[in-house]
Amino acid sequence: MSQLNRRDFLKLAGSSGLVAGLPATGLLTSGGARASSNGRVVIIGGGTGGATAARYIKRASPGTEVTLIEAKPVHHTCYVSNTVIASLRDLDDIAHGYDGLRALGINVVIDKATAIDGEAQTVRTEGGETFEYDRLVVSPGIELKYDAIEGYSEAAAETMPHAWIAGDQTTRLRDQIRAMPEGGLVVLAPPPNPYRCPPGPYERASLIAHYLKAHKPGSKLLILDSKNAFSKQGLFEQGWEMYYSDIIEWVPESDSAGGVTRVDADNMTVHTPFDDFEPDVANIIPAQRAGRIAIEAGLTDGGDWCPVDRRTFESTVIPNIHVIGDASIAAAMPKSGYSANSQAKVTALAIAAYLNGMEPEADPRFANACYSLVTPDHSVSVNAVYKLKEDPDAPAGVALDNIAGGVSPIDASQTYRRREAAFTESWYRNFPKDIWG
Ligand SMILES: Cc1cc2nc3c(=O)[nH]c(=O)nc-3n(C[C@H](O)[C@H](O)[C@H](O)COP(=O)(O)OP(=O)(O)OC[C@H]3O[C@@H](n4cnc5c(N)ncnc54)[C@H](O)[C@@H]3O)c2cc1C
Repeated sequence: MSQLNRRDFLKLAGSSGLVAGLPATGLLTSGGARASSNGRVVIIGGGTGGATAARYIKRASPGTEVTLIEAKPVHHTCYVSNTVIASLRDLDDIAHGYDGLRALGINVVIDKATAIDGEAQTVRTEGGETFEYDRLVVSPGIELKYDAIEGYSEAAAETMPHAWIAGDQTTRLRDQIRAMPEGGLVVLAPPPNPYRCPPGPYERASLIAHYLKAHKPGSKLLILDSKNAFSKQGLFEQGWEMYYSDIIEWVPESDSAGGVTRVDADNMTVHTPFDDFEPDVANIIPAQRAGRIAIEAGLTDGGDWCPVDRRTFESTVIPNIHVIGDASIAAAMPKSGYSANSQAKVTALAIAAYLNGMEPEADPRFANACYSLVTPDHSVSVNAVYKLKEDPDAPAGVALDNIAGGVSPIDASQTYRRREAAFTESWYRNFPKDIWG
C-alpha cells in the first residue's frame, strides 16, 4: 500500500483521478441502493461525532456510500443547552436537522440501531432494516447510570431532571426553575469522573444563578458535588465570588462524605450521607457510560467506555468498527463536542484512506476548545492540542499527549472576559455548520 500523508490524500481525494476513476462494483445493499466503488460506511449516531464523520468521509471519498443511522429526526446540542435552561435561548435555537447532510448525498436513516454483528459486518435497526458495512463508525454518545444513585431512575428524572441529554429534559429543568418560588432552593448534583463535558455542571450552576438573581430574589443554589475538584475551578469560583456570592454554594465530596447518594423524587428529597435537603428544583446528573448500542455490541469490553486505537479510533475489541466521541476512551481528551468533532475528522480521513487502498495519516493532531459562560458577558475557556505518544499501558500501545494549550488567565480584565463571551457566541454560530451544514 502506498504511504501518503493526509495533505496528499486530501488533494487526491478531491481530484477526480483517484476517486471517480475506480470501477463501480455494482453491489447492492440490503436497502436496495447501489453500492459505490469506494465501499460502504455506516455511522450510528447523528450527533456531533457521527454527523461530522459522515460529512468528512463523503468529502474525502465522494465515491463511498455513507449511511447515517440516527434515532431522532432533529438533534439538540448539549453545548449551549445551559443557556436554554437559563431562559437565554429557546430550544429551537439549538436544534439541527439532517437536510444539509442529505444534500451531500449521505443516506440519512431516521431509525434506532439495535444490533451490530461484527462478524457479518451488519447493523440492524428497530425498523427492521439491515445495513452492510465495510467500516462502521459508532458515535452514540452517553447512557446515564440511573442506578448509581439510590432512588433515581428514568421515571424519577421526570421530577428531578438530569438535562444531560438535550431535548425534553432541557425544557423540563428550565420550566421547573421558572416555576419555583422566590427564596427557593435549587440543588445541582454533578456526576463523578469521567463524564460528558467536565465544566458543564459549573457553567450550568452559573447560568441558573444568573436567572435566579434576576427573577427569583433570595433563592440559593447548592452544588452537592461527587468530586473534590473540577474543571476551570479557579475561574468559576472567581466568577461566583464576583456575581453570585449570596446564591451559589459549592459543597465538595469530602464535606458531604459522598455527594448525593439517594433521592426520593415523590417527596422531593435529596440525601447525602450527612444531610437531607428538600429543594424546589433538583438537577441530578448521574454517572455515565457509553451509549447502549456500544455496550450491547461488546465494544466496551465489559467496562463503561470503548477502548480504541487512538491512531484511527478503531475499536481494539472488534475490527472495522471505529468508536468516536463521548463513548470512546480518548484520555487525555475530555468528553466534549469539540473533541468528538476532532476525532471524527481524523477517523474520517483514516476510513477514506483505507477504502481507497492507502494508509492513514501516521501522526494526526487532535484539538479541544471549550468556552463556559459565567454570565452572558463573562466567559472562560480551555483549549488544548494533542498528539499520539507511545504508551505500553494504553489500548494498542498509543496514548494522547497534551502538547499545547491552556486556560483563560485568572487575572484577565472584564474586557477580556466579555471578548471570550463574544467568542462563545461566535463559536456556536459556526461550529454546528461544520457538522450538520
Ligand atoms: C450541559 C452540557 C454542556 C456542554 N457544553 C459543551 C461545550 O461548551 N463544548 C463542547 O465541546 N462540548 C460540550 N458538551 C459536550 C458535548 O455535548 C458532547 O461531548 C458531544 O455531544 C459528544 O458527541 P457524541 O457524538 O459522542 O454524542 P452526541 O452528540 O450525544 O450524539 C449521539 C447521537 O447518537 C444517537 N444515538 C444513540 N444511540 C443510537 C442508536 N442506537 N441508534 C441511532 N442513533 C443513536 C443520539 O440520538 C444522538 O443524536 C456539553 C454537554 C452538556 C451536557
